[in-house]
Amino acid sequence: MICLGLEGTAHTVGIGIVDGEGSILANRYEMYQPSKGGIHPREAANHHAQRVHPLLLSTLAEADVRLRDVDLIAFSQGPGLGPSLRTVATAARALSLSLGAPIIGVNHCIAHLEIGRKVTRCRDPVLLYLSGGNTQVISYAHGRYRVFGETLDIGLGNLLDKFGREVSLPFPSGPLIEKTALEGSRLLPLPYTVKGMDVAFSGILTAALNLYRKGETIEDLCFSLQEVTFAMVTEVAERAMAHLDKDEILLGGGVACNQRLREMVRRMAEERGGEMTVPPPELCVDNGAMIAWTGLLMHRSGVRMEVGETEVEQNMRTDSAEVPWLGKAAATA
Ligand code: AMP
Ligand code: MG
Repeated sequence: MICLGLEGTAHTVGIGIVDGEGSILANRYEMYQPSKGGIHPREAANHHAQRVHPLLLSTLAEADVRLRDVDLIAFSQGPGLGPSLRTVATAARALSLSLGAPIIGVNHCIAHLEIGRKVTRCRDPVLLYLSGGNTQVISYAHGRYRVFGETLDIGLGNLLDKFGREVSLPFPSGPLIEKTALEGSRLLPLPYTVKGMDVAFSGILTAALNLYRKGETIEDLCFSLQEVTFAMVTEVAERAMAHLDKDEILLGGGVACNQRLREMVRRMAEERGGEMTVPPPELCVDNGAMIAWTGLLMHRSGVRMEVGETEVEQNMRTDSAEVPWLGKAAATA
C-alpha cells in the first residue's frame, strides 16, 4: 500500500510518500519565505499553489512511484492558516478524484506525534511540540490524544522569529538565535510565564525588545530568551509526565532542532529515569511524510472520509477525534 501525504498548514508545502511498512520513500518540502515581515496567509497559499505540482512530480520521481500506484491520499486538515489549508486540500481532493483513491484528512499535531513514535520507536510518549505557530504538550489518555498544556498566545518559534525580525535576523530566526546564544552568558530578567500547565510568550517578547532598546547585547538576549522559554516548556512537559506517569518525552516541531532545548529536556527526562527522543530534523519540521504515515494508520484502523467531509478546520483540536489505530499498549494511560 502506497500513501501520498500532503502538508500545508502554514509556511511549508510538503509531499511525502510512505509504503505499507511506513518506510519513507520520499519526503520533500518547500518553505515560503516572506520578503519582509511575517507570514502573509494569502501569499503563503499562492506559494503552495505554485509549488505543489512541481513538488508532486519531483517527489514521485525520487520515490520511484507512479501516480497510478498511489493507493491513498492523506492531507493536513488542520489546524492552520485557512488559505494554506484550503489550497493544499484542493490539491489532495483533485488527486483523490482523478486517481479514484480514497482521501483522508489528518490532524497536523497528531501527525508530529505519530511520525515520532514511528521513527524513534518510543511507545507512549508525552510530545513537546514546539513550532512556529504551535506550542503544545500532547499525550494519549482515555482513547484520545489530549492537550495537557499549551501557549495562551503565540507559539515559541513565533516568539523567536518575531524577536529576530525586530533585531534584523533573517527569517526563520530560530537557528541564528541558537548560534548567537552561544556567545551570550548573562541571564537577563525576562518574565517566566507558566500558568498552571500553560505558557505565554508575548510578554517575554515585549520585555526582550525593551532590554534591546536599553542597549543589552543580542548575544545576552538570545541566551536569556532560550534559557527562560526552554525552562518554561521543560517544566510543563515534566509536570505532564509526572501526572500521566509516563517516562518517554518526544520532541517535535522546528524548535526541536535546537541543541540547548534538547539538552534541557534530556536532563529533565533522565533525572526522572525516563528518556527523550527526537526525530531527524526533516521529520521535526512540517512535512508530508508524517501526514502520509498518520493517514495510513487511520485508514488501516477503518477511518473513511468522503470528499464532502474533507473541509479544512483552521482550529481543529487535537482531542476532537478518537484514535482507533492505537492498540491496547497505549490505552493503559
Ligand atoms: P515548523 O513551524 O515546525 O516548521 O518550524 C519552524 C520554526 O522552528 C520557526 O519558528 C524557526 O525559527 C524554528 N526553528 C528552526 N530551527 C530552530 C533552532 N535550531 N532553534 C530554535 N528554533 C528553531
Ligand atoms: Mg508543525
